[in-house]
Amino acid sequence: MSDTLDAQSGVPALFGSKTFGDAVQRQRLPKSVYKELKQVKEGKKKLTPEVAEVVANALKDWALEHGATHYTHWFQPLTGITAEKHDSFISPVGDGTVIMEFSGKELIQGEPDASSFPSGGLRATFEARGYTAWDASSPAFLKSDASGVTLCIPTAFVGYHGQALDKKTALLRSMEALSVQAVRVLRALGNTTSNRVTTTVGPEQEYFLIDEEYFNARPDLLLTGRTVVGALPAKGQELEDHYFGAIPDNVAGFMREFNEELWKLGITAKTQHNEVAPHQYEIAVIFDTSNVSADQNQLVMETLRKVASHHGLAGLIHEKPFAGVNGSGKHNNWSMGTDDGKNLLDPGKTPQDNTQFLLFATAVIQAVDDYALLLRTAAGNPGNDHRLGANEAPPAIISIFLGSQLSEILDAIADGKDLKAKEGTKLALGHNSLPDLPKDMTDRNRTSPFAFTGNKFEFRMVPAGDSISGPNVVLNTVVADSLGQFADRLEKAKDKLTEVKKIIAESYKAHRKVVFNGNGYAPEWQVEAEKRGLPNVKAWVDCIPELASKKSVALFGAHKVLSSEELHSRVEIYLEKYAKTINIEAGVMVEMVKKNILPAAIDWLTGLAGSIEVLGSAKVPTLGAEAQLKEAGALVEKSYKALSALEAKLHKTRAIDDIHKKASSFRKDVFAAMGELRTEVDALERLMPSDYYPYPTYEDMLFRF
Ligand code: ADP
Ligand code: MG
Repeated sequence: MSDTLDAQSGVPALFGSKTFGDAVQRQRLPKSVYKELKQVKEGKKKLTPEVAEVVANALKDWALEHGATHYTHWFQPLTGITAEKHDSFISPVGDGTVIMEFSGKELIQGEPDASSFPSGGLRATFEARGYTAWDASSPAFLKSDASGVTLCIPTAFVGYHGQALDKKTALLRSMEALSVQAVRVLRALGNTTSNRVTTTVGPEQEYFLIDEEYFNARPDLLLTGRTVVGALPAKGQELEDHYFGAIPDNVAGFMREFNEELWKLGITAKTQHNEVAPHQYEIAVIFDTSNVSADQNQLVMETLRKVASHHGLAGLIHEKPFAGVNGSGKHNNWSMGTDDGKNLLDPGKTPQDNTQFLLFATAVIQAVDDYALLLRTAAGNPGNDHRLGANEAPPAIISIFLGSQLSEILDAIADGKDLKAKEGTKLALGHNSLPDLPKDMTDRNRTSPFAFTGNKFEFRMVPAGDSISGPNVVLNTVVADSLGQFADRLEKAKDKLTEVKKIIAESYKAHRKVVFNGNGYAPEWQVEAEKRGLPNVKAWVDCIPELASKKSVALFGAHKVLSSEELHSRVEIYLEKYAKTINIEAGVMVEMVKKNILPAAIDWLTGLAGSIEVLGSAKVPTLGAEAQLKEAGALVEKSYKALSALEAKLHKTRAIDDIHKKASSFRKDVFAAMGELRTEVDALERLMPSDYYPYPTYEDMLFRF
């Protein structure tokens, strides 16, 4: 970070300086190789060993010039974080000296020691090998830390038989699936110019920043990312004075360095602001292809944590670090664009564009309704259980916000009524333009889990702390599926325009039950949604098996995104992940309560009892103090009871073998018992003098830096 960074020339020079992006490639590769690589990146050509060799060499030279000594195949195993194994470029030449080398083969393929990554039974130990394969469509980048500079090569991670062991492989396959079906639809509509359709994502990332010292003094934050005990102070987020408020100095310093680091990585950090909860913030980047966006979001999270600590802060990316204040999510802004530059979810200006837009929007609505449970599952993780289906939005019910105008248009088509333009003239689909759909809809709805926002859909259920790949794999595949169904009909139809109208009308009629423009947080919505038959599964464990349901296996199989075997492995991995997470959280909670909080309370009460005696003998009235002693004493007793109940449940659940039963018991028994213990301990905290409470409090963490 520099004090002298000149905004005019400095930022553009900084931007992408640590990535081997398109501009550097054009500069450093022979023209023919550059062109061929571009086609590889666009999925039009397969990579040849010759091209790989030239690219590897240019990449190495560029990396060495920037001080790199090592390279790594950077990948995203199913743990949701990224993994890397570093190799140095050195190669001995036989006379006791070395040269720096990097071959095409080393660029294309790696073989990390993969046995410790979760495979959910996909990889028997005798064939524990996994391979990483270069993803040319996501630019290589440099990472610097105390160990030096490392060239990171984004890769997919697959098993010996090609099974997807990571998040990227399925994402790339789902993008391909969507492209195939979307191009079929476009062709059937007479489009001859678009050859590929790419899904695009612009994620908005929410997070908290707290004083690093507080963070380090809280074992729960340190080990689980969230507080498992802690009472909300008198002032919570009621005043909503934090939202878009002024940014404090150390946070401003953090943001400046954060932006600069992201810009260096070619990440388009664009907006930053305070969020609703105290000490909560958001960063949004400009959209890119789903694949690049998913990689970059991993880097955003990693950079966030690293830079925060430079400023004495801890970055919290958990979905629910603090009970009682808003949690964090990611808004996954999603659309589809053609290779000749058209956003298919942009209504456009011409009647043809409007018709095409309505068809693609209808495909999304149908897909989201058909596979609501799958989408909800893909957006689940242990932390998100505290948001979805708790008293916070978005709820666990998938519904779509379209806004009144678009809903009215689609309703009119579905019901065979005339469309009315603003001036009251009739509109016929395919002949007139639709009324303008203002991008900045005034009734923009913040409570909907899936909202149309003018030229894209915003999937708002996505968990803050996880990779965005999973939700996008599902989104891409389900939309590919409905587009495929539309294409089947359109390809056969003689009169395309009539068929398009029929498809939109029939599909919307069958699926408009998923459209809800009202307040998604309202309790009445839960009742209404049930009447409409929309699924509302509150606990993630209860919907994980949906990933490998018959319907899901058929869907992912048909589009060659994930095989039955791969889906079953994911079910197992996610159940494991849930069980492990709650196991750790419960373990940490037991320790904190047993070793520190209750002993501290007893210390306090012992002192208090002594004081009462002394005061009593001096004839000072002690009724108030006695009442407090009794009240707190009762809470200590209740806490001990709840603590033993939790320990017993934990003991029993840990012994269960079957992972389905085990994960389920972690939710039903252990998680529930944690809630009961927390109620007592938090009530006790509210009575305890703050210098007795052994950990930084919510008040410290949320209101002090
Ligand atoms: P909003 O005000 O609705 O949040 P913005 O214009 O600020 O809208 O965009 C929010 C996010 O949506 C940004 O990350 C932006 O890049 C992204 N976005 C915009 N257009 C698209 C698109 N076609 N596909 C995917 N994401 C998009
Ligand atoms: Mg948003």
